[in-house]
Parts: sequence; C-alpha cells; structure tokens
Amino acid sequence: MTTSGTNLEHARAHNRRVVIEAIRLNSELTRAEIARLTSLTPQTVSNIATELEAAGILSSHLPRRAGGRGQPATPLTLNPNSAYSVGIHLDHQSLLIVLVDLTGNVRFRHLVAVQKPQPEPTLSMIEKIMQEMRQQVKIDWRKMLGIGIVMPGPFGVEGISSQGPTTLHGWDNIDVEARLSAATGWPVRLENDATVAAIGERFHGIAKQLTSFVYLYIGTGLGAGIFTDGRIYTGHAHNAGEIGHMVVQPGGRECYCGNRGCLERYLSLQAVYEACGLDPARATPEDLLQVDEETFDRWLDTAIEPACQAINIMECVFDAECVIIGGMMPPLLVEKLIKRLTPLYSSVRSRYPQGMRLRMGMSGSNTAALGAAALPIFDEFNPQYEVLLK
Ligand SMILES: [Zn+2]
Repeated sequence: MTTSGTNLEHARAHNRRVVIEAIRLNSELTRAEIARLTSLTPQTVSNIATELEAAGILSSHLPRRAGGRGQPATPLTLNPNSAYSVGIHLDHQSLLIVLVDLTGNVRFRHLVAVQKPQPEPTLSMIEKIMQEMRQQVKIDWRKMLGIGIVMPGPFGVEGISSQGPTTLHGWDNIDVEARLSAATGWPVRLENDATVAAIGERFHGIAKQLTSFVYLYIGTGLGAGIFTDGRIYTGHAHNAGEIGHMVVQPGGRECYCGNRGCLERYLSLQAVYEACGLDPARATPEDLLQVDEETFDRWLDTAIEPACQAINIMECVFDAECVIIGGMMPPLLVEKLIKRLTPLYSSVRSRYPQGMRLRMGMSGSNTAALGAAALPIFDEFNPQYEVLLK
C-alpha cells in the first residue's frame, strides 16, 4: 500500500483537532498561545478559532491585561455544552455507558452487570439504555459527536489470541460499529481497551503533556495502548499493542494460545486471580482487595520480572517518554506493583529517574468508558464535526 499524503481538507481537520486539544489540555489559551504551542501560524489559528467560535465550540472571555502594550489578549475556552459524546465499555462482567460533554463532565451513567455477554442480547440492551438516556437527559441532541465503544481485543485474529478466557467470545463476525450506528444514527468507533485507556489518559489524565508514551492496561488479559508523536498507533488491524502473548519466559507457563511463557500468564487479572486462588470466571477486581497480603505478594514475585521485560521492550521499541500502568486492577494494588518494579532495565530512557519512566495511570470503573467517549472527539474525520460547524 502507498503511504497516504495529506491534502488540505485533511490538514484543516487535523489542525482543528490540534487547536481543540491544546485548549482542552490548558483549560484556556489566547490565540497567540495556541500558535506558540501548536507551531501553527497565527493566521491559521485565527481562522480555526473564528470557525470554532462561530460554531459555539469555543467561547472567548474578558481580555487579560496585556501588560500595558499591544492588543489585550482574549482567552478562549471550550464550551462544554457545544458537543457531546457517548462512551461504552463492555467486558466480561460489566456494561457501562456514559454521556459526557466536550470538557469531559459525565452527564449520564448507567452500569449493568453481565456474564460473558453475547452479541444479540447485549446490543439490544445497549440500544434500550440509549433510548432511556435520550428521554432522561435534556441536552441539544443535534450536538452529539458520536459513540466510542471499547471491548477487549484482539479483533479478527484467527488462532493465537482469539482463544482463551481473556477474549470475548462470539463477537468475531459482528460489525458492532455498523449495528450501533444504524440503531442510533450516530457515528460509532470501536477500539480495544488498552488503546482507549491511552486516549483517556491523554485527554483526562497524567499523559496530558506527553506525546509519546505506552500504556500497559491490566484487564482480564494485558494490552498496550501506544501514542507516538501525539497520535495513537493502532497498527494494520487495530491490534497494535496486543502484547499479552509476547513470550517473556521461554519454556514458562503454558498459555491457551499454544505458546509457553506469554506475558499475560504473569501480568493480568486472570493471572492474579489464579495465583490468589480466586475463580477467574467469577472474581472481580475488587475481590483482590480481600486477598491477604502474603498471597498477593507471592503473585507479585512472579510478575515483576516479566513486567520489567515488557517495560524494557516498550521503551526501546517506541522511545516512549513514559510507560503508564493502569487498567481495571484497584489503584492500591497497581501502586504496590509499581513500587516493586525497581530497578528497571537499562534502556533508551535510562538517564531519566524511575518516577518519570514509570507512572501510575487512571484506574477505576469509569476509566475505559471515559476514554471511549473521547474517541468521537479525537477522530478528526468524524463527519459530525462538519454538521456542528455548519
Ligand atoms: Zn499466549
């Protein structure tokens, strides 16, 4: 395949996202500050700002005093009520739907417990909850940018990791995006949980100021969300970062994929549940808080070395500014894990202190759904932008 070029229309959409993102990260910025931070020309920033202001996406505020010289500078902020998006997180045990405004405030939240969700009943349930949401929440629904949905990957992979307890079964041939889009009339984007967690971290969390980082997402399995130069890296079939089946202990523990010594046999909720004597089919992340310290530490002993190897590989392959660990494991336990990951292997990041190389990401039940809700906003080719800008 030939590398695609950037035409003017794409460039405009991209620059628009860059401006929105810059303001989101900094709460408020003047046009001059946006130009400086984004390396766009003042003229380009001015054109985009005018267009976004006319669409109500940006609001200008009282001018700041400009130190006595020149034009007073007018700061711009995002108008929370100018656009909305929906985030859906589906995994083995729960379905969470959130509606957020442009600045990330949650305006509706609905959580349902599920067990090994099957496509048809689950999609019907999602459609029903969305109808209830539209009746309950009084907003201008014409300003809906779309739906982001997150499910455990990998997608459309035969063999290797489409088997085993960490994959959702029965969804392989279901076009989730098309189904939900037809039911709601909104654009839908599907991504895997690690990718979405990385996007959420960049939008709402500690990665706000990072352009290249890797997010290790501890879910039922293990995945990595990869940001390079401010863009998410998804790979050929949206499976980039499916590192759970990277062999880190040759000849090690047997894995359902057929390999031995795969990373997620050591570092994943599935692995902790097994090590702590919990039933992986029924246990929830919160159950781990009841496990006695000694048992949990025994799991940690086995996870440290594989985790350090994974971090080393991610740093060296992607020149990541930072590796973030988060996901569905309770924050207290992620913190414990991170404390034990020392010293890290030498890598291209060796000269940075450990606290900068490795950080704790957002965790908790809203994380993935909030990241999913960022997908339609993050997608610069989302056709709903053109609708809003008319
Ligand atoms: Zn494996």
